[in-house]
Amino acid sequence: MTARMIDGKALAEELRQGFKARVAALAAKGKKPGLAVILVGADPASEVYVRNKVNGCLAIGMHSEKIVYDADVDQQVVLDRIAALNTDPAIHGILVQLPLPAHFDESKVLEAIAAEKDVDGFHAENVGALAQGNPRFIPCTPYGVMKMFEQGGVDLAGKEAVVIGRSNIVGKPMALLLINAGATVTVCNSRTRDLAAHTRRADIVVAAVGKPKFVTGDMLKPGAVVIDVGINRLLEGPDAGKLCGDVDTAGCLDVAGQITPVPGGVGPMTITMLLANTIEAAEREAGIR
Ligand code: NAP
Repeated sequence: MTARMIDGKALAEELRQGFKARVAALAAKGKKPGLAVILVGADPASEVYVRNKVNGCLAIGMHSEKIVYDADVDQQVVLDRIAALNTDPAIHGILVQLPLPAHFDESKVLEAIAAEKDVDGFHAENVGALAQGNPRFIPCTPYGVMKMFEQGGVDLAGKEAVVIGRSNIVGKPMALLLINAGATVTVCNSRTRDLAAHTRRADIVVAAVGKPKFVTGDMLKPGAVVIDVGINRLLEGPDAGKLCGDVDTAGCLDVAGQITPVPGGVGPMTITMLLANTIEAAEREAGIR
């Protein structure tokens, strides 16, 4: 068996093309969707993510603002800016790039964003709505994964799903979405005993661990759908400097039924779903949804 590759790059491009008409329809009503991205400090990886988010907006005709602060900025300055953006009619989505410097209270900052503009879906109100099975904004990475299941024709109801990782950004919301879709879900973490015993009985494995090539072919059930959320930069060996996922893709190809590559898998879907959430926010505000 050779696994089918789920092409996140192509799916992301297809979705973004489809967004253009929705953006144009809103712009025609004077309600062009707008995203504000706040970056504190000069972390190189965060700078790349923020640039890609802003460019992703502009490429489909949306409005976008990048707001940058020095790493030592007072938290209150950022909170005041968020308060202004909450009432800015040109802005429908507000995103604070994580991680924040150590002197910030991350949850206080995330809770300061108006829930109806919280396009990352990290505000407690939106997390609660997702847990209740009635989401307003779905966190972008797991939202992208759900679109990939849809595209791959994966029926989740009744399936055994194992999520490796329990972060608020990926693992937990991913587990909630799979539960809502009718899968039987196991969420693993660094304390899990005999991880492979869980993954070997899974029809679906989602890896969000942050460890290169962590999931190997011998950990999989034949035919499993494997979603690799990980983005790791290899520090040594012949591929030093290259990106790699949490899954040993080459070693899993003969066992898995479908698998996502890194790069070109979940990564491009994450920003796409951020655009989707911002358009949805603008449509809601315009009374279209
Ligand atoms: P995180 O907050 O560091 O969480 C990692 C999770 O993996 C934790 O829950 C941890 O368990 C678990 N873990 C670590 N070692 C383990 C082990 N030996 N067995 C089982 N579980 C283990 O990371 P994250 O923010 O969720 O991100 C995960 C990965 O996805 C990273 O590579 C990140 O760069 C990537 N990512 C990609 C995208 C994208 O757009 N594709 C978006 C977000 C993140 P404990 O809780 O017990 O420590």
